[in-house]
Amino acid sequence: MTWQNQLIIWYQNNKRHLPFRETNDPYKIWVSEIMLQQTTVTAVVDYYKRFIERFPDVETLAEAELQEVYKYWEGLGYYRRAKNLHLSAKQIVTNGQFPDTYEDLLTLTGVGPYTAAAIMAFAYHQSYGAVDGNVLRVIARLKAIKSNIMDHVTVKHITSIVNEDISGYDPSAFNQGLMDFANAICTPRNPKCDECPIRESCTAYQQHLENVLPIRIKKVKRTESSFITGIITYEDSLMLVQNSAGLLENLYGLIQFEVDSPYSFIEQFKEAYGVDLIIDCFLDDYKHVFTHKTWYMHAYHFIVNTPDHLPLYSREDIKKLPIPTAHLKIIKNHY
Ligand code: SF4
Repeated sequence: MTWQNQLIIWYQNNKRHLPFRETNDPYKIWVSEIMLQQTTVTAVVDYYKRFIERFPDVETLAEAELQEVYKYWEGLGYYRRAKNLHLSAKQIVTNGQFPDTYEDLLTLTGVGPYTAAAIMAFAYHQSYGAVDGNVLRVIARLKAIKSNIMDHVTVKHITSIVNEDISGYDPSAFNQGLMDFANAICTPRNPKCDECPIRESCTAYQQHLENVLPIRIKKVKRTESSFITGIITYEDSLMLVQNSAGLLENLYGLIQFEVDSPYSFIEQFKEAYGVDLIIDCFLDDYKHVFTHKTWYMHAYHFIVNTPDHLPLYSREDIKKLPIPTAHLKIIKNHY
């Protein structure tokens, strides 16, 4: 059985019952998708019900006063969404019909690629993959994609995979299945691989990379630096280097390189020290603010099997070394 079929079966047995899943009406789906932007499903349900009761179709919404629309949005936040919804409702009524192509949906104010794809799939049953951060994570793991999912090239690549893999399957069940699955099983931290219905098709799982992928590194401003920072261990000792220059001169710190992937880190490390590293898992993201500079540190755990000449320190040694605060936090939490 294909992973898509396994996912859909899982979804049928485990789906969350939500009012906006019980309709094919593009207007109602559009309202729910706009509400779901930046807001959790649980928070949206009651707002959605009240909104649809008062504004059951696009004409009623277009005729309403903006003040009243805001009133029904009160508490949901990001009020620009309500304004855009009202504006687009007027636009739709003027055009005479609800847009029914991906391109036309994108012309509505406040509708981006994700929302347009979701409406195409849920209302019109077209093979469009609605790709958000959750779907990026699942597909990056399933296909062991090692490039940065914050990079638009990776997003494009994953979107094309999803659009290909959805073909021939029920687009609604596939997309909603992926969402619920991402939420319940393939979670950002410690995915529940033991309970996973698509484990056999998951390359990250086979390669023990489920706690490494996806790579998710934000671009930083010029006054900021972004590092991959390594907790590099050999048995119970930790690698630290004494900095000869820079902000942390003379202090002992973790190894870090200004690269955007732990795999580039492994390459740079090999060049610098001639030793191979094995990636174990992603640990956490850290931020440290110096007077004129901010560091973003993406910490990963790496293992060395051949310590050779590497500067490795025991726990006792480390207590005596001067270590900068920026790295002390990471060491305390993960070593
Ligand atoms: S095996 Fe684990 S990492 Fe792979 S899809 Fe399932 S839950 Fe996600």
